[in-house]
Amino acid sequence: KVLNFGSLNIDYVYRVERFALPGETIPAINMERFSGGKGLNQSVALARAGIPVAHAGCVGSDGVFLIEELEKSGAETDKIQVLSSPSGHAIIQVDSKGENTILLYPGANHKITREQVDRTLEEYGEGDVLLLQNEVCEIAYIMEAAYRKGMQIFFNPSPMTEAISGYPLHLVSCFLVNGLEGASLAGTRGREAILAGIREKYPEAQIVLTLGKDGACYDDKRGRYFHQAFPVEAVDTTAAGDTFTGYFIAQLLCGSPPDTVLRCACAASALAVSRMGAAPSIPYKNEVEAFLSN
Ligand code: ADP
Repeated sequence: KVLNFGSLNIDYVYRVERFALPGETIPAINMERFSGGKGLNQSVALARAGIPVAHAGCVGSDGVFLIEELEKSGAETDKIQVLSSPSGHAIIQVDSKGENTILLYPGANHKITREQVDRTLEEYGEGDVLLLQNEVCEIAYIMEAAYRKGMQIFFNPSPMTEAISGYPLHLVSCFLVNGLEGASLAGTRGREAILAGIREKYPEAQIVLTLGKDGACYDDKRGRYFHQAFPVEAVDTTAAGDTFTGYFIAQLLCGSPPDTVLRCACAASALAVSRMGAAPSIPYKNEVEAFLSN
């Protein structure tokens, strides 16, 4: 079973002519509301890849539509708590040149309690998978509790923050990082150096390194594998990494060989990149299969 203890966000996107200056009030041209959060996106990707996934976390009453969004994709949501405080949200302004400013408020994502963690993990044990990103609180506690239960921990240290160096990362079974996160974790740059740096620090871990349009690598103790990105017209790269993570884990858990796992994750994320939006751009398994058979 896969449990994703992750963020659930509301993205409020305001289109403006230009950004407001300090002390100034300006009108927005329009406003749209989207579901977001790396946690939510990764649960959507896992569910659309056809793997049973339960999402755990917290929203406010303003975030009930996020739960509905997850359910529509096929994720289990009974481990999500609805609190009276506001959901995590981002206020995103996009100006006429397409540049943006983002104000992120963690909200309910930072209201997860140790009691909730303990209760959520009750029904999980040996061999189950825990997926984490770095957008909720109590990560160190969740890692330790899951490890004690014998769960495999998959960690996507995104966004990379200083707090990460205080987490018990030696408990992680599999790191999933992009180039920047990998460089920060390894303390060095460049594909080979990053893989070697993480391997040296965490000798037992599996490492997944995504390299944007340059593809992705997977390194476990048996070998190192690489797959090129599929050539697509990049329309919106939001959720590329989240789509990759969901499909990678889903394929790995199906027992596919590493080359197949990478190929499928690269195809799914290429499809996400070729479409607008975050969660809506994440493809379903049959779309990925159709893409690969073309
Ligand atoms: P993140 O979104 O976390 O920064 P990356 O940018 O590394 O992650 O992208 C994750 C994966 O998405 C890549 O490994 C690749 O397979 C795919 N991808 C990203 N950008 C492109 C692109 N321009 N064309 C095709 N595939 C892409």
